[in-house]
Amino acid sequence: MFPTLTRHRPGAGRLVAAALTVATLAGGGLAAGSPATAADPASPQAAPAARAEAAAVAWPVLRAGARGTQVTALQHLLVARGQAIAVDGVFGRATTGAVKAFQRAQRLTADGVVGPATWGKLAPTLRQGARGPAVRAAQTLLRARGQSVPVDGVWAAAMTTKVKAFQRAQRLTADGVIGPRTWAALLGAKPAPAGDRAALARAILNTSGITLATVHPGGRHPGSTAKQNIIDTANGRGALTSPWSDVPNRRVPLDTRMLNGLLKLRTQHGYRIAVSELVGGDHGSTSRHYKGLAIDINYINGRHVGDRGAPHRAVMSACRGLGATEVLGPGDRGHSRHVHCAWPR
Ligand SMILES: [Zn+2]
Repeated sequence: MFPTLTRHRPGAGRLVAAALTVATLAGGGLAAGSPATAADPASPQAAPAARAEAAAVAWPVLRAGARGTQVTALQHLLVARGQAIAVDGVFGRATTGAVKAFQRAQRLTADGVVGPATWGKLAPTLRQGARGPAVRAAQTLLRARGQSVPVDGVWAAAMTTKVKAFQRAQRLTADGVIGPRTWAALLGAKPAPAGDRAALARAILNTSGITLATVHPGGRHPGSTAKQNIIDTANGRGALTSPWSDVPNRRVPLDTRMLNGLLKLRTQHGYRIAVSELVGGDHGSTSRHYKGLAIDINYINGRHVGDRGAPHRAVMSACRGLGATEVLGPGDRGHSRHVHCAWPR
């Protein structure tokens, strides 16, 4: 047991300790799908036509901390451009360094953030007969979009059929050539399907402005942090509860209504939020946390819930609007320092 662990069950329990991980939270960012030109200005050297093309295509914005197939594709493309990095789907320090080196070489703003201008220089136009890491990037993305192709770096005739099928499904010109529009569609700036748990979790991981705690307020168990809960969900596993909780060491599926709600607090309502617990931590035995239905939020727009100016009332209202039926915060017992939003059982 962890004697210092504080409990935060709705209507009971004591004050929750502040999570310590969110010191970096104040740094904001763009929501997925929002205009990215501020972070990634088109190069003044780019031809006007290329600039117009880059602006018209909905590229995703990737930055440090992102994970998943978009990052895997990015890494393949960086390798194709001569950057020696591991392809592991994690946008860490090495990837940031490779992005900056590529941006410098292309006379782009070397901020390590991959937006329209950087994608425009990074993603080559590919067609049948192409080979190499850039083809692997396309194959990785085609697979993630349900087109069964091997990731072997070789564009054979069968792949052209899959590219055309993808283009038709996306209402793109089905020419079997991967240019900027097809790349952007493959990279999927589109919102995740609402019923797809893993896709929602990936979208959460790729959305800047949602910070997921990597520690617990009152005990040490890396496997059940909010961040690990979402990573496990993105990888198709249940989220793990904490060993000292009322429902110890169990894998729990996260509810898609809760995941949608969490994503939309950022993408629809615009709040920068930090999540302190999902199914981890220590809650009452009947808590909706253990059903994968509840979120605890401890920072909003860089302010700690309970501090002056933290818009916790607005976030609580947004949670209700997104379908949460158990919403607690400052003024409610045990919730002076965090907002609890839970969806119905
Ligand atoms: Zn809670």
